[in-house]
Amino acid sequence: MNMETLIAQAGTKRDPSTGSISTPIYQNATFEHPELGASTGYDYSRTGNPTRTALEECVAKLEGGHKGFAFSSGMAAITSILFLFKPGDHIVFSDDLYGGTYRIAEEIFRRYGLEATYVDTSDIEATENAIRKNTRALFIETPTNPLMKITDLHAMNLLAKKYGLLTIVDNTFMTPYLQQPILLGADIVLHSASKYLGGHNDVIAGIVVTANEKLSEQIGKLQNGAGAILGPQDSWLVLRGLKTLAVRMERQQENALKIASWLKEQDQVKKVYYPGLPDHPQHEICKRQARGFGAMISFEVQSKESAAKLLKSVSLISFAESLGGVESLITYPTTQTHADIPQSIREERGINDRLLRLSVGIESSVDLIEDLKTALKEEVLT
Ligand SMILES: *Cc1c(COP(=O)(O)O)cnc(C)c1O
Repeated sequence: MNMETLIAQAGTKRDPSTGSISTPIYQNATFEHPELGASTGYDYSRTGNPTRTALEECVAKLEGGHKGFAFSSGMAAITSILFLFKPGDHIVFSDDLYGGTYRIAEEIFRRYGLEATYVDTSDIEATENAIRKNTRALFIETPTNPLMKITDLHAMNLLAKKYGLLTIVDNTFMTPYLQQPILLGADIVLHSASKYLGGHNDVIAGIVVTANEKLSEQIGKLQNGAGAILGPQDSWLVLRGLKTLAVRMERQQENALKIASWLKEQDQVKKVYYPGLPDHPQHEICKRQARGFGAMISFEVQSKESAAKLLKSVSLISFAESLGGVESLITYPTTQTHADIPQSIREERGINDRLLRLSVGIESSVDLIEDLKTALKEEVLT
């Protein structure tokens, strides 16, 4: 079945007893057993809940994986994945990484002896050089956040196979509609479903999809053991949002290309980072491994002051953290999403105080450009 169909039918017709089209919300903690040794398949909602199962099975199918697991947030999903490792293990992370992932690796897991190195995973040689004897996994974001660097997933999976490592991909920015890392050889895919999967800036959720039975068992044990599960209401909200993922993504990336191309023409804009622009350094790799370029754009203005003025002047676009929803949001990575990365490291990676990150929504691109045009103009006048 085609991806668009699977998406539109997310969680439908799962209750033959009523014929309900939408998955019911099983707001329930525990399940009655018919007799000793018999079960309906559900015992207790931390271990499993039918509404959550509907979401988990749907996302696993979309990613082409073995099993899906829904967590209370993207960070809960990442935490559970990092619990797969033991003291003394080492993980190579993409250097231009979601700030929360960096924070948990440095401030929490390092205390438990999990070692981390950050490299530019768009550079295959540099990634290979970062691999040590105790390296157990590559943890990749592509495109990266916020500089939109693309990592060649096929090359990373070959590298991982060569050294016996797991490949973990944070697929939040692309979604399975545009990119399916497991089909390119990855072992684990994760999402902050608070972003595109949910799609409406109204729910916090995380997803893990595993590629094989062994990993499914391990993640399942961690999900049930640590217990950071997604509740039935929120599972339903993600399923509800998911149904329009294909049309949202199409519209959002169409808008994003128009806006990125327009930004490039503006004198007040020094740099534009968007993989869909033909002069993006990894444009061709992105084209090869994904069905589109997504709807996240970063751009650099003249100075910190110009960035501050723009954030104050936008009116349609909201100055707010997060991304992926139908409403366009603009963020300032330096003090928002990436504040926990030390300034010197941030600067070195290009996340400077002139950088802005735009999550393009489904509004009219004409109105969005008008909003940016006015904000950039006010910046010159004042
Ligand atoms: C937001 C985000 C996360 C964290 O997810 P939460 O749902 O906020 O916990 C992880 N990775 C990426 C790429 C994100 O954008």
